[in-house]
Amino acid sequence: MNQPNSNANPNAPLTKTMDNIVALCRRKGFVFQSSEIYGGINGFWDYGPLGVELKRNLKEAWWHDIVRCPGRGPDGKIIDMVGVDCTIIMNPKVWVASGHAAGFADPMVDCRACKSRFRADHLLDLLKESKWVESLVLAVSENQASNVNFDVAWVNRWAVNKGKKLAPNLYIVKNPVMNLPAYSPDSGQQGLPMNWLLHLVAGSHAAGKPILPCPDCGGELTEPRQFNLMFQTYVGAVQSEDSMAYLRPETAQGIFANFKNVTDTSRVKVPFGIAQTGKAFRNEVTPRNFTFRSREFEQMEIEFFIRPDTAKEWYAYWRDARFNWWKSIGLAGENLQLREHDKDELAHYAKEGAGTSDIEYRFPFTAPGFGELEGVAHRTDFDLRQHAEHSGLGDKLKYFDQELQVKMQGQGVAKEEIAAKSKYFPHVIEPSAGADRGTLALLCEAFTPDPSRPSGVVMKFKPRLAPIKAGIYPLVNKDGMPEVAEKLYMELRGRYAVEYDEKQAIGKRYARMDESGTPFCFTIDGDTLKDQTVTVRHRDTLQQERIGLDKVGAFLAEKIGG
Ligand code: ATP
Repeated sequence: MNQPNSNANPNAPLTKTMDNIVALCRRKGFVFQSSEIYGGINGFWDYGPLGVELKRNLKEAWWHDIVRCPGRGPDGKIIDMVGVDCTIIMNPKVWVASGHAAGFADPMVDCRACKSRFRADHLLDLLKESKWVESLVLAVSENQASNVNFDVAWVNRWAVNKGKKLAPNLYIVKNPVMNLPAYSPDSGQQGLPMNWLLHLVAGSHAAGKPILPCPDCGGELTEPRQFNLMFQTYVGAVQSEDSMAYLRPETAQGIFANFKNVTDTSRVKVPFGIAQTGKAFRNEVTPRNFTFRSREFEQMEIEFFIRPDTAKEWYAYWRDARFNWWKSIGLAGENLQLREHDKDELAHYAKEGAGTSDIEYRFPFTAPGFGELEGVAHRTDFDLRQHAEHSGLGDKLKYFDQELQVKMQGQGVAKEEIAAKSKYFPHVIEPSAGADRGTLALLCEAFTPDPSRPSGVVMKFKPRLAPIKAGIYPLVNKDGMPEVAEKLYMELRGRYAVEYDEKQAIGKRYARMDESGTPFCFTIDGDTLKDQTVTVRHRDTLQQERIGLDKVGAFLAEKIGG
């Protein structure tokens, strides 16, 4: 993640780049590499003291708003929602039924020269971030400034110098006399289209096959091939085909597998939802962009079961409700967008015509762009039907809709028709979100460069999400102030994540809280002892006001919302 301006000059104002966000996460204890003391492990991340609070706040906000206090649905009724907590390792038949064992694969390409493996649909992004492409584009665009019809000589010069070191297996590096056609951009188009340039230097334009070069070494890539992303393990002492199991690649299937248990044991009636948060594992081929694409991550999923003829309303409801939820926790503005899928993006379970959309956040990655935070999909009755068939339960997995039965009886519908129609496989609307991507989006959104702050940055989390809600500080470590501050801290810490600290100058303590994203500091000073008031310091405005010592709890409750 090399980006210009990232700490290159320690005196330059800090900019909002991924490098600077990653550095702050490391420095302040939000996110560490997993097993860092051993050099880490690619695609795995740990949360430190601040990060774990942030991620918990996100998951708790989700659970609170979705499971405990869902709003009213499109039918005007209060939404019915319950939770489950299922195991990571399930009977492997689950993954045969769900289609993951056969189809949970991404098309992969391998480099014939350096043997690196990449996801075919990520290639262009990876190339944009690649060192050799960066260097080539720089060489071409520098020399192209006055004349858009760049000369083959510039590319060849790059090939025999920098190209040799950075992309030794690139076609044009091995064949520097290749004949490049001149290029004139269409009117209004800026610079060279990346695709065109890459095909050209890879020699694939000459060979007539549009294959992109390897992002690592420039070598020739294979045609895309399938690769299963599920991690395998063995259950019990014997490692054999029979004891093989998978780490779940999504939490959703635990919900489907428990559908009957939940409807048999609780009072939920269609339409209703089952929610779950928990770990999921995917052996991603190219984990990258910090925690965005990890191999172990956490999901927050809802399977919402509905009558098939209400799918359109419920799909639109969840798509909009989920988009507004992300807004409500602070991801507002231009960085958040809702994107309906094109037809060719539909997942294996989605029928044509069934809605699918992504809620996306614009992360400041090297190749900036919107990345998926949550997918909202109409999964039809695919999963329940599959489990009915593979488990052998058949129609027993159908839902009996007593309300519909009574309604049809009232309408004088024939008995046979009532019997046939009141038992069915509900359709499902699935809002499936990532807790790690959500946390990363909150970190990126909060990161606010501000040259007036000592560290050059303030983390502007919404109070509800902030890892530490308040710092409680005696102005100086004497004159009875620490005792009052400590008492206030002890009163508040049962309800809120608050910090007590009596060391260092007050300015330094405030500066630390700016970087941690703490919205308020309460300072106990000489006046507190006289008039029982404290100073409240506001992180975002830097304003200070005085409130009664006995009003601090109510102040926090109001600002945090509960
Ligand atoms: P992508 O296309 O980015 O691989 P996906 O469409 O396969 O994602 P889903 O299967 O819809 O993702 O999973 C639901 C959510 O789980 C995603 O919106 C994302 O927030 C999260 N998620 C999926 N894969 C990863 C991963 N490798 N690392 C972190 N979060 C992930």
